Amino acid sequence: MPYQAGKNLPGERASKLGHLEVLKSPLVKELVKNFEEPSEVELDAPVNWESIPASGEQLDIIFSVDGSIQTIEDKTPPYKALAFVKTALMKIDQVALSRIDKVTPHPFALRDLMTDAALYHATVFPLRHVKVPGLTVYDAVRQTIFESVKDSSLYGEPMETLKWLAYEKWSGEKKNLEEFQCPHIGCESEHATLPYDAEEGVCSNCGNKLYITDMLGFHHDMAENAASDSVGTAYMNIHETLLLFTGIRYFWNNNKDTLKRCLFFKDGPLQIRAQYSKLVAPIRRFLAHAYKMGVPINVVGQEKTGYFVEHLDLIGRNANKGQLFIPDHKYICEQIQHRSASGEPYGKDTNYGAKIFLILDERHHFVLTLPITTGNMKAFILDPQIDLLMGLPNILATLPTILSNRHENALLPIELANSIASLSTYPSAQVLKLFADANIKK
Ligand SMILES: [Zn+2]
Repeated sequence: MPYQAGKNLPGERASKLGHLEVLKSPLVKELVKNFEEPSEVELDAPVNWESIPASGEQLDIIFSVDGSIQTIEDKTPPYKALAFVKTALMKIDQVALSRIDKVTPHPFALRDLMTDAALYHATVFPLRHVKVPGLTVYDAVRQTIFESVKDSSLYGEPMETLKWLAYEKWSGEKKNLEEFQCPHIGCESEHATLPYDAEEGVCSNCGNKLYITDMLGFHHDMAENAASDSVGTAYMNIHETLLLFTGIRYFWNNNKDTLKRCLFFKDGPLQIRAQYSKLVAPIRRFLAHAYKMGVPINVVGQEKTGYFVEHLDLIGRNANKGQLFIPDHKYICEQIQHRSASGEPYGKDTNYGAKIFLILDERHHFVLTLPITTGNMKAFILDPQIDLLMGLPNILATLPTILSNRHENALLPIELANSIASLSTYPSAQVLKLFADANIKK
């Protein structure tokens, strides 16, 4: 990378001539000549497309969750940075939806559909060089995360959901919180925990305050006076997951028969990455428990970008409509991630479902994640089978009724949740920037 401009001297510019010199090299010329562009990509492994199973019953209560994040950074030193995060859960009215023109929906019709049908949550984190009186950035972010999950505008419901998952309240047993690393610098005891159902407590080793949200491990992405941008992204993903399971928890506690009619969508894979994956094991245990109780949870994650989507682009060209393909661990490692399959099973700690490639028709090719019906995630991930995908027949019966024709490979519930959660449209990034500037420059 060229040198950046300093205060007194201009920055270095990458020389255009440099590229010419490279192309003059006989070796480079010879190599480039050999790089043919194949007309068709050949895969080393067969793609085992299967016909989709007979569809079941249509699910008539549909929810969708999405989030967005915008980091606002001052362009001048000391480069103060804030991260704004927004998440939304919306209920899709199937009857109202069926009346809407799928190709050119009237914006007012969409607005009416979304009124009173969504829960919103917004928060902001100080990332770098922002002062919160009496607190380091580290502790300010920890406290903001805790207060944000308790958001009173949502009546603290996402916090109840976090406790419901973390203490496995759905099991009826009073389980302890799994031990985690104390976030206090200098302590870092690996045995921090909280008593059943507690939201706050103290570390038994250092005596400092602990929040239940500390178990998620946000502190690994922070230094005392700066937090990585990934804190905001991780918070968004965790909060989306909590909103999703707030819906599931509500029906689980109040009406399991209604829960069976629900379909939940999440934008992105059913995955919580890196240290934040502490919630994945309890979620899998809940999903397996629900299935055993005769209440399959219909939840689907849709990926719109990334390696899996690019891969579907390649293999989908040769597939017929009405087919799906479930890649196993070996296929994902070697064909999609381009790594050796000898390592840990793909998604072992981070995913609560299996990936499928689905060719519904010519215009709708999907990369989806669906939970599985067995508690043995490892066996499942190594060799997933179609009949273990939770709720697949009913989900397949529902998908054709909620396709969007406005965008390729789009589902209406996800498109609508996108439009609510998008920070770039609501409010505008420019407004956020002015707001942030006013606060930062005090
Ligand atoms: Zn401690």
